[in-house]
Amino acid sequence: MITKLECRFCQAPLTHSFVDLGTSPLANSYLKVEDLTKMEPFYPLRVFLCEKCFLVQLPEWESPEKIFSDYAYFSSYSETWLKHAKDYTELMIKRFGFSSNSQVIEIASNDGYLLQYFKARDIPVLGIEPAKNVAKAANELGIPTLVKFFGTQMATELAAEGKHADLLIGNNVLAHVPGLNDFVEGMKIILKPHGVITMEFPHLMRLMDENQFDTIYHEHFSYFSFTTVEKVFAQHNLTIFDVEELPTHGGSLRINVKHSDCALNPISEKVLELRNKEEAVGFTNLEFYLSFAERVKATKRNILDFIIKAKKEGKSIAGYGAPAKGNTLLNYCGIRTDFIDYTVDRSPHKQGYFLPGTHIPIYHPDKIKETKPDYLFILPWNLKDEIMGQMAHIREWGGQFVVPIPEVKVYE
Ligand SMILES: [Zn+2]
Repeated sequence: MITKLECRFCQAPLTHSFVDLGTSPLANSYLKVEDLTKMEPFYPLRVFLCEKCFLVQLPEWESPEKIFSDYAYFSSYSETWLKHAKDYTELMIKRFGFSSNSQVIEIASNDGYLLQYFKARDIPVLGIEPAKNVAKAANELGIPTLVKFFGTQMATELAAEGKHADLLIGNNVLAHVPGLNDFVEGMKIILKPHGVITMEFPHLMRLMDENQFDTIYHEHFSYFSFTTVEKVFAQHNLTIFDVEELPTHGGSLRINVKHSDCALNPISEKVLELRNKEEAVGFTNLEFYLSFAERVKATKRNILDFIIKAKKEGKSIAGYGAPAKGNTLLNYCGIRTDFIDYTVDRSPHKQGYFLPGTHIPIYHPDKIKETKPDYLFILPWNLKDEIMGQMAHIREWGGQFVVPIPEVKVYE
């Protein structure tokens, strides 16, 4: 828990607000019916900007153990995501020549959805995953997985056992780490002299560009520009030698990193290009960051305008999906069962539960056919094409899709 507000990377005092989304429960704290009559903890969802290193960050109001230990998200449920993982595996093997003599280690390995593809190619794998329920699923799949939080302490233990990585993977974990310096230093410790670190994380440039304020929630402690992430790795004598912009999670970066004294893997042109692009947009300028908050307020007003008008016309609205980002959006906008009757989700781990804060019930997608809503409000907007394809039959009764981000839009 925090006692004073300081930057988790450079320790400068945090005095600037990036955006204030009010208070919200933990975005993955789905509720059972018996929880609905209990008190529910809400935490501030106010994001700060460090004026020295420009790291956009959320203070640690709640311990990671409490946030992540019973995480309901199983990666293997998304088809799009599995294909992304398989393509990535092939790409890495081809580019860096990993073989049965290599060691692949993945931090936040979830249920083994990615490591399974390396294992299928006879490359030794090790997963590290703090959420017990998903780590158990990975071990049952034959993916050796340690149930732990990663940092210098764990890295030192692994190094003492002779476990070092030729390929060290950390996808969608960097943003989730409150102890950023300890985490990056831990990666340095277990990386072989000519090893490669590869990480994916949402790109702040896309978050700001496309108004993705709902990707802000308590599990995401840091929001990275390329400019700032380069500084973080450089501080630990690690060098980003390649970067790629990906469409996943609304727009992510994939970085490849090496020890700064490793002579292999020259720095690609793309590193310089992205650094220059961010500078041109304004990522080294305080005023640029501070303009975001007003746009978020305007987006909220537009979403509410649409919903209020629809309800006044007597239309019914159902949600689609129960992603963490949906909980930020609904809580920030104050949208409850007065506006959205229910939502649906394909994951059986969420059906029968209620959304945190708003208490909107989550059903099986078949519920849509039963109630024939006028509007289907798509919460995981990053999957909107896939969802509009799967749910095309709502047009039989004149149903329409609504996507709230980047701006509320109806698809006829
Ligand atoms: Zn800082």
